[in-house]
Amino acid sequence: MSALHNRKDPIDLLVVGGGINGVAIARDAAGRGLSVLLVEQDDLAAHTSSASSKLIHGGLRYLEQYEFSLVARALAERDVVLNSAPHIVRPLRFVLPHEPHLRPEWMIRAGLLLYDHLGRRRAHTLLRSRRADLRDHVAGAPLKAQFETGFIYSDAWCDDARLVVLNALDAQARGAEILTRTRCMRARRGARTWRAQLRGAAGMLRDVEARALVNAAGPWAASFLDQVAHVPHAHALRLIKGSHIVVRKLYDHPYAYTFQQADRRIVFAIPFERDYTLIGTTDIEFTGKPEAVRIDDDEIAYLCAAANRYFTRAIAPADVAWSYSGVRPLLEEGGIRASEVTRDYLLDFDDAAGAPLLNVFGGKITTHRRLAEDALDRLAPALGSLRGAWTADEHVHLPGGEFADAQRSGEAAFDHFLLATRRRYPWLPDDLALRYARAYGTRIERVIGAASTLADLGERFGADLHQTEVDYLVREEWAHSADDILWRRNKLGLRFDVKERQRLEQYLGVESNR
Ligand SMILES: Cc1cc2nc3c(=O)[nH]c(=O)nc-3n(C[C@H](O)[C@H](O)[C@H](O)COP(=O)(O)OP(=O)(O)OC[C@H]3O[C@@H](n4cnc5c(N)ncnc54)[C@H](O)[C@@H]3O)c2cc1C
Repeated sequence: MSALHNRKDPIDLLVVGGGINGVAIARDAAGRGLSVLLVEQDDLAAHTSSASSKLIHGGLRYLEQYEFSLVARALAERDVVLNSAPHIVRPLRFVLPHEPHLRPEWMIRAGLLLYDHLGRRRAHTLLRSRRADLRDHVAGAPLKAQFETGFIYSDAWCDDARLVVLNALDAQARGAEILTRTRCMRARRGARTWRAQLRGAAGMLRDVEARALVNAAGPWAASFLDQVAHVPHAHALRLIKGSHIVVRKLYDHPYAYTFQQADRRIVFAIPFERDYTLIGTTDIEFTGKPEAVRIDDDEIAYLCAAANRYFTRAIAPADVAWSYSGVRPLLEEGGIRASEVTRDYLLDFDDAAGAPLLNVFGGKITTHRRLAEDALDRLAPALGSLRGAWTADEHVHLPGGEFADAQRSGEAAFDHFLLATRRRYPWLPDDLALRYARAYGTRIERVIGAASTLADLGERFGADLHQTEVDYLVREEWAHSADDILWRRNKLGLRFDVKERQRLEQYLGVESNR
């Protein structure tokens, strides 16, 4: 914060929004030598970027909508992200059970071959797709007997909220300043610079001057232009709500399922946090305020019914252990179904009407890095940076992912790292070593500090959350509240009871923002 007060010159870039797109842009810009300030009104990833299905995928269903270039670009990104953050991103095999209302088997097979082909650009390739007889495959066991044939294909899974934090950490390490709980209240465009008023925690106001502004406000991108920056624009956003439910695990193997519903929506069932199954999503029009998005009873009933069509073990609304909702900020295309609006993004760059403005409309977690690179390819020359794109380099990792090297990448590298972690900290219980290795990668050292016994990790608040981890998250990862820690830096909220949570809140000394 002090750097803000001391700065005399205008900063190069003010980024509004600490979701995946804002932090990725801040990271790329800082790496190109630009001075960057990012402001997020809540916590990092507080909104859409922690409410996704958490898939790093090409989007098999977009092939049906002939969005080949979107799928190809997303699949290329899948490799880049798997390589750069092998701790929080991992390959996941999906099973698509065949049903009479789907396309014929040969056509699905052909679509999957195309998907494999589009995804085979780089050295880091995933297992190919194949047909499976579900009557004697482990993934067939929890399904009803009518599902005899399935198709198995690869994609990847990612902890979305941690991906945001890692991008922010990297941006900061490269010189960017990241202010959470700081809202951009007003932005006025001059001929050469923007002047913005920011309101931080405790209502503190401050003014900043920036040579360019990035509007990465996600579902608020249009209202930011209308109400904060007062800039006319031609693009409308269509807000589409998607919700997920989490239930006790419905099966005990590592495959995820892709269930294509008769209404053409896709519902995924994904192994989640060791003991749970994540089921989602819905896709419905949303006209409320993005901050007010909540799952409703109809969505819970829809997702339970969807799961019950396939699994032998039936679930009911009372089985829902947790749920979350988000709104996709999609580009309005007029009159088409919510599930068929393009997931592609649009970068709207304008430097004719004054100081440069770049608006981000749409996008996916999967393509965040590419979106940021495209954004900087437009912004950097306008700001006089001559440094080119750098984030796709296979030697560039997100913080904690540096254990991958020329010999090992992806899961092989992670397994090797986990083994080394267990040897280095033999006193860490196995599950905790795995959780730390997944969440923090090589940054585990900063979490554990000088501890050499379990007792050295300090107070245990609940589940396996200890004091040193909480202190690290507050000190280094912008965590303030219990929700920041229990639902975004990790998902231990699933395992905390009310008393444990209250004790954590007391320790943090802040009121819960939930
Ligand atoms: C249900 C669902 C499932 C999805 N599944 C997937 C998936 O599996 N894979 C995938 O690749 N993508 C998926 N997506 C898409 C992906 O989640 C989004 O495209 C992405 O998270 C959008 O990120 P963002 O940074 O644009 O928006 P956000 O994450 O919403 O970030 C915008 C931020 O701007 C902040 N902000 C707004 N106004 C201001 C202001 N005035 N001052 C300061 N801060 C401000 C907000 O607080 C917010 O945090 C899914 C989306 C949904 C809703």
